[in-house]
Amino acid sequence: MTEAIGRIGVLGGGQLAWMMAQAAPRLGLELWVQAPSEADPAVALAAGRILAPPEDAVATAQLAQHCQVITFENEFVHLEALRNLEAQGVCFRPQLASLAPLLDKYTQRCFLRDLGLPVPEFRLLTATEQPQSYPVVLKACRGGYDGLGTRILHTPAALDQIRQEWAGRPAVVEAFVTYERELAILAARDVAGQIVHYPLVETQQEDQVCRRVLVPAAVPDEVTLQAEAMATTLLLALDYVGLLAIEFFLTPEGKLLVNEIAPRTHNSGHYTLDACVTSQFEQHLRATAGRPLGPPDLQVPAAVMVNLLGYETGERDYQATLKALADLPHSHVYWYGKNQARPGRKMGHVTVCLEQFDPTLAWAQARQIEALWVQ
Ligand code: ADP
Repeated sequence: MTEAIGRIGVLGGGQLAWMMAQAAPRLGLELWVQAPSEADPAVALAAGRILAPPEDAVATAQLAQHCQVITFENEFVHLEALRNLEAQGVCFRPQLASLAPLLDKYTQRCFLRDLGLPVPEFRLLTATEQPQSYPVVLKACRGGYDGLGTRILHTPAALDQIRQEWAGRPAVVEAFVTYERELAILAARDVAGQIVHYPLVETQQEDQVCRRVLVPAAVPDEVTLQAEAMATTLLLALDYVGLLAIEFFLTPEGKLLVNEIAPRTHNSGHYTLDACVTSQFEQHLRATAGRPLGPPDLQVPAAVMVNLLGYETGERDYQATLKALADLPHSHVYWYGKNQARPGRKMGHVTVCLEQFDPTLAWAQARQIEALWVQ
C-alpha cells in the first residue's frame, strides 16, 4: 500500500492558498506554501513555508523535501525547471504534462481548438499583423491576471502603440466577442478518474476584472450540459487530477465559447465556501491528496459573491465597513489580510446565501454590498 498523503506543498501564498490553508486541517492535512514574502496572506496560516517566488524551482526542491505532493496556486511557474524535479520523483498534482498546454494563452487556445472546443478567433501577434476589423482583444501570452495583460483595442493606432509598449512580449490577438453573458464552471477529477462538476455560474467583469458572481447562472439546462461536457472533455484530455475552472462567453445564439482555463482554484468559485457541500479548496486538496472527491452540490437555492476590490492606495482601517458587510443577513465576509490596498487589488470577498433564486434580487444584493464597501 502507498503511504497516505498528509502534507501538501503549494506554489504561491496569496488568497487562494490562504483559503486552501483553512481547508487543510479539516481534512487532517498540513499545508506548506512557497511564497515570496512573509506578508503574503497564506504564510501565517500555513503549517510551514519556504520564502521564495513560486517560479523558483530550487526553492521548490526544498519544499518537496517536506511534502509528499505539490500543487499550484497560480500559473506563474517555471515548468522546465520543475520537470527536472518531476523526473527525480517529485509528485505534482496536477502533473506537469497537464499544465503544459495551459500556461501560455496562445498554446492554451491552440490546445482547446485542436480538442474541438469552441474558442474566439485568435492569432499570434506579429510585427505586421493588421486586423481586418476592430475592436480586437490583445492578451499577453504569459503573466496576465485580473485583466492585467488584456487590452481591448479600438483602432490600428492603439494596436501600434501597444505593440511598441509590449515590444517583443508574445501576445495573442483575438476577435472581440459580443457576448450575452460571461459564465464559468468548476470541475474536479480525482486520482481514480471520478469527475464532479459544480453549478454553472454567471460572472460579471468590469475593466476586465471580476466584480461579482451569481450561482446558479440563469441559463437553459442545455447550456449547463454544454459546459459540463466541455469540462469533462478537458479533464480527460489533460489526464488532469485536481480542480480547474473554465470561463465562457455565452453568445446571443446560446452557444458557449471558451475564454480561459485556470488550472487551479478560482475566484468564480469562492461562493462554494458557504453555498456548497464541498468547497473548491477542500475539493482541490482532496484530489491532490489522492482522496475521493466530495459532493459539489449547492446547499442553498442561490448565492451571490462580490469581490472587495481596492479603490485607493495605502493602508486604512476597514473594520467598520467589514462589520456592516458581516451584519447583512446570511452574509460571509472574507478579508485576506493584505497589508496594502491598491486600486483593483482583491482585498477580500463577501458571499450572501439567498433564500430564493431571483437574479434581479441577487444582483441588487450585490450592488448593496458594493455600495457599503466604497462608502
Ligand atoms: P485574465 O487572464 O486577466 O483574467 P481574460 O482573458 O480572462 O484575462 O479576460 C478578462 C476579461 O476581459 C474577460 O472576462 C472579458 O470580460 C474580457 N474579454 C477577454 N477576452 C475577450 C474577448 N475576446 N471579447 C470580449 N471580451 C473579452
